[in-house]
Amino acid sequence: MSQPTLLSIFQARQRIAPIAKRTPLRSSLALFDAAGAPVHLKMEIMQNTGAFKLRGAANKILKLPNEARRLGVTTASSGNHGRAVAYVAKSFGIHAVICLSHLVPQNKVEAVRKLGAEVIVTGNSQDEATETAHAIACERGMTYIPPFDDPDIIAGQGTIGLEILEDCPEIQTLVVQVSGGGLMAGIALAAKSINPAIHVVGVTMERGAAMYESQRQGRPVEIEEVPTLADSLQGGILLDNRYSFDMCRKHVDRFLLVSEVEIAEAMAFAFYEEKLVLEGAGAAGIALLRNPAAADFPGPVATICTGNNVDSGAFLKIVGSGNYGAKT
Ligand SMILES: *Cc1c(COP(=O)(O)O)cnc(C)c1O
Repeated sequence: MSQPTLLSIFQARQRIAPIAKRTPLRSSLALFDAAGAPVHLKMEIMQNTGAFKLRGAANKILKLPNEARRLGVTTASSGNHGRAVAYVAKSFGIHAVICLSHLVPQNKVEAVRKLGAEVIVTGNSQDEATETAHAIACERGMTYIPPFDDPDIIAGQGTIGLEILEDCPEIQTLVVQVSGGGLMAGIALAAKSINPAIHVVGVTMERGAAMYESQRQGRPVEIEEVPTLADSLQGGILLDNRYSFDMCRKHVDRFLLVSEVEIAEAMAFAFYEEKLVLEGAGAAGIALLRNPAAADFPGPVATICTGNNVDSGAFLKIVGSGNYGAKT
């Protein structure tokens, strides 16, 4: 498969328009005070399924020829990617098989089932569930839909970059959450193609920063997975990574980390100051903008509210104290 390009991002935008919304770019007065520059929030929590992953999944699935659509698609994720694949498949009458490990809680299994997908509970780790998804793809002739390291997925996520720069061409700094790096690879490619001077900053949680560590070491490395509030940013980048690692190396100016406390405070800040419900990963950009490290980011700045899939009880516990630190 060929590398994603600005052209393939434009093509993705046209392809996904029937299902992925063009989300608003909202300015945040409260973050202006914290970051010392105008800050804009890209509202991907307004996508159906509550996260941006719909864009990549829709681009990949809608590119499939009729015969492949008839045979169906498969993936292994209980998170935002799995939900997006199930949702897109159902919308276009395509059969989806989502493989989930025995570790995935029952409520999440049910949530994927509700989206109309066939769920197979298998194996004792994410890796084992992924192996099953690949095996099913082979046996049933289905197409495996990768979560991040794929040109069509990257181009789909890159449409966010086009929309941000259309709505605010003056943007000087983009702060983008990074896990597998599909979101960052697409947005950074779009942004730097349009304005090479734009400053692109990747943000990940301290606890389990696979792309951060891989970039530091100059090659994809594995790191231990530990619990984090930013659960959607968990997981490795694949030791045989083919696209997102190199694209991040080429286009990202720097990678910075946020702590668990900073993520929790950013969730509370977003709730009280912006009336937004964000999951940990969705608040990581805001967390970085409230950190002193952001003081020298040239403005205007944009970051992405990537997702809102957080357990309501857990969310209430995090924001309940109303304490999110007085930062200026
Ligand atoms: C998947 C995801 C990310 C990170 O995207 P990658 O392409 O894996 O780097 C960030 N935030 C949320 C809410 C996500 O679901």
